Amino acid sequence: MIIPAAKTDLGSLRELIHKYAGRGPRYTSYPTAPEWTESVGEEEYWKHIQTTNAEENPRPISLYIHIPFCSERCTFCACNVIITTREDVADGYVDSVRREVDMIAQKISDRRRVNQFHLGGGTPTHLSPRSLERLLTHVSRHFQFDDEPERSIEVDLRVTSEEHLDVLRRCGFNRISMGVQDFSPETQEIIHRRQTIEETRDFIQLCRRKGFESVNIDLVYGLPLQSVESFAQTLKVVYDISPDRIALYNWAYLPKKLGHQRRIDESTLPSTEERFAIFRSAVEGFTSNGYVYIGMDHFAKPSDELTLAQKEGTLQRNFMGFTTRAGSDLYAFGVSSISSLDSIYIQNIKKLKSYDDCIRDGRLPIERGLELTRDDRIRRWVIMELMCNLHVSVRRFREMWGEDFHSYFAEEIPRLQPFIADGLLENDINKEVRVTDLGQIIIRPIAMVFDAYLTRAMKTGLTTPVFSRTL
Ligand code: SF4
Repeated sequence: MIIPAAKTDLGSLRELIHKYAGRGPRYTSYPTAPEWTESVGEEEYWKHIQTTNAEENPRPISLYIHIPFCSERCTFCACNVIITTREDVADGYVDSVRREVDMIAQKISDRRRVNQFHLGGGTPTHLSPRSLERLLTHVSRHFQFDDEPERSIEVDLRVTSEEHLDVLRRCGFNRISMGVQDFSPETQEIIHRRQTIEETRDFIQLCRRKGFESVNIDLVYGLPLQSVESFAQTLKVVYDISPDRIALYNWAYLPKKLGHQRRIDESTLPSTEERFAIFRSAVEGFTSNGYVYIGMDHFAKPSDELTLAQKEGTLQRNFMGFTTRAGSDLYAFGVSSISSLDSIYIQNIKKLKSYDDCIRDGRLPIERGLELTRDDRIRRWVIMELMCNLHVSVRRFREMWGEDFHSYFAEEIPRLQPFIADGLLENDINKEVRVTDLGQIIIRPIAMVFDAYLTRAMKTGLTTPVFSRTL
């Protein structure tokens, strides 16, 4: 049971929602992307690539490739997507990404091994099986892989053929993730994404027959016409399909920023309380059906690597979500993709034409980035520990950073008091700050206490960037 009985009565819950519901970062990075600047670019990235590859014990490598294409737009989509059905556009893109891989790979020390490779989008299987194989074999030729790397991909089953799956298995892909969102036909109609229960069930069975070790399903709450009762029908099917991992995302309605979302009538959206009730009943449903709540929006079976890593305190979070491959440098390729080395974030250009132009000119296609200060790295560590491993050990903090936790965060500690009073946190001054079961679902407001940029903006009255809802 995730939510302690004392807080399950509606009155207490309503109070908590009103107190902590707001907008805030998801902390796939710290400092968050709005702090990154165009003044950090190619020169800084090369410098960090050189330094990190010259280290005596260089970190392992994670790779990410972004495939931005989809053939039609779902109205709820919040991704950086290019809508096209032209195969030549996708083929040209593969050529550019291959060249970008060439540029980076030649600077990587051959002592380094790739332990994680992820393809995301958009829809990576929008590429034809032939193009996909051309891309994947190119990457395999240019990087040295571990003996047992994790290779994962996001697919849209509506455009993924058996031939795609065969290519992926030939290229060593062992994890597959797919969107479901909600099986309700009425909700699917409004979000413009029709996908039946039968199609999903058949596809997952096919993936398992082909030998994918792990299947992940993405669900979304906060969508039009959803209620606790309607979503319960989707959940029933999901328990029956029994994926290894489930991601349950809180949908961000941002019509001012994303024009296509204006096609969704705001009056059809569930209220904040209903959203939270959907989330809460899903959490309870997953946990009573054998899943472990990993945190934020992720659930996994008890034997899954994510669950085991969390138990051991080695879970991490990056742009691909939670990961067991701790301490890797992430090299990302393709439009809008984000690389993350120890002390630098780099984001690629979002526009396809500008990306292609840079690659053709032999320049890295960088739009912006950030070099991290020591304080950024300390705060990132604390935020990641809270979000992934649900505690910050005072001893470990001293070992890592040579500082006393309570002195370093003398300004922040009093701001944790409301969370402690509400049963979301426990603070044992000599040992640790620990997130409770209830705190796990209100984790973003807790993490925000350690965000120096948000604190500074609040103090100086600056407008903070628009983030998604925290609850
Ligand atoms: S399939 Fe995914 S990435 Fe493509 S438009 Fe729909 S939600 Fe966006």
